[in-house]
Amino acid sequence: MPKLRHVPRRLVILGSTGSIGVQALDVVERSGGELVPVALSAGTAWEPLIRQARRHGVSRIALADPDAAARAAEAWTDGEVLSGPEGLVSLITESECEMVLNAIVGSAGLLATVATLGEGIDLALANKESLVVGGELVTALAEATGASIIPVDSEHSALHQLIASEQAGTIDRLILTASGGPFRGRGASELAHVTIEEALAHPTWSMGGKITIDSATLMNKGLEIIEAHHLFGTPYERIEVVVHPQSIIHSLIGLCDGATLAHLGYPDMRVPISYALHHPARVEVPVAPLDLPALGSLTFEAPDETAFPCLRLARESGRAGGTAPCTMNAANEVAVHAFLAGRLPFPGIASVIETTLERQEVQRLHSFESLTDADAEARALAASLVEQHAVA
Ligand code: NAD
Ligand code: MG
Repeated sequence: MPKLRHVPRRLVILGSTGSIGVQALDVVERSGGELVPVALSAGTAWEPLIRQARRHGVSRIALADPDAAARAAEAWTDGEVLSGPEGLVSLITESECEMVLNAIVGSAGLLATVATLGEGIDLALANKESLVVGGELVTALAEATGASIIPVDSEHSALHQLIASEQAGTIDRLILTASGGPFRGRGASELAHVTIEEALAHPTWSMGGKITIDSATLMNKGLEIIEAHHLFGTPYERIEVVVHPQSIIHSLIGLCDGATLAHLGYPDMRVPISYALHHPARVEVPVAPLDLPALGSLTFEAPDETAFPCLRLARESGRAGGTAPCTMNAANEVAVHAFLAGRLPFPGIASVIETTLERQEVQRLHSFESLTDADAEARALAASLVEQHAVA
């Protein structure tokens, strides 16, 4: 049984109809009343959102899409339905919550991250894109208001736990593990004609469509390098990636005395979700104990950045700083969307990102507005490059 805190934690769950959102509601249901969802949100999926609200006794929901919000308001009269970006911000700032879980996909999640931290509310962050796009501004905002960011991404959750018991200045490097995705071991020439179905068949994790494609291109690991840089303040040259196909080790830290610490477990996102939602408490999660003899062996290999250039592109954009990661992320979102719609071949994802980065000047980051501009510019550029690919 979970240890009860004195006060239940009031939670807003954004992107509750997605892969992370649904698993978060499972964690909430098992918490014995310790976690209380007070508001839920989705992009367009109003019917599943209403079903979730009914099941969990939630009286406020928000939909990013105004048409979906209007339909939800007609169908559901037991509570309040908010709409659009303003609705999302109201949901966060007016629900008297102690924590927000941001499980929205893509840079659309940045607004929610900013609204949460700006109010000084603790953030359980699955939406890695908000840190990729606006890392410096986001972490500065959290520092200014005193809000915590607890990562939900499994590698960063592992690092958060590993780092917690170490003194400042003792950590030499962070090592992020990557499954390698469904195309691990293939050369660049073998990736030209892979299908959408093959790219969506992730070997170890079951996730939403966008992150599954990001895992197949290794962009996901590139985004995670930038995420780790901002979360832990670690310079890029001290963040490494190793491919570990079994996804049992979720990440490692190398220490100054030659020791390396690892975090292990079966791949199940309810573990890092539970860690973030209950932090600093730990509660039981129904995951099988690790059976090492049954696993037999864990293997490791270096990532192939020639076949999977997205890893390099992400790292370079992180190093360039300013608006470069925002440009890279926007181009990736456009390219992945086009790939999933059958309008771009798999290797076209990396080439659209690379050309967008070459053509869009890097600006210094002054404000969140400069990000909105860079994001829009990169999306337009990437969309025209996709168009050229489609015609070619
Ligand atoms: P998903 O596609 O399954 O769900 C996305 C959710 O966001 C849905 O509820 C959807 O309605 C909502 N949404 C989509 N567009 C929106 C918009 N414009 N405005 C507001 N809401 C919108 O995605 P997911 O796999 O659950 O991933 C969510 C986030 O968590 C991503 O940033 C992903 O990188 C990260 N993450 C996911 C996993 C995983 O196992 N799924 C693991 C680590 C990190
Ligand atoms: Mg991850």
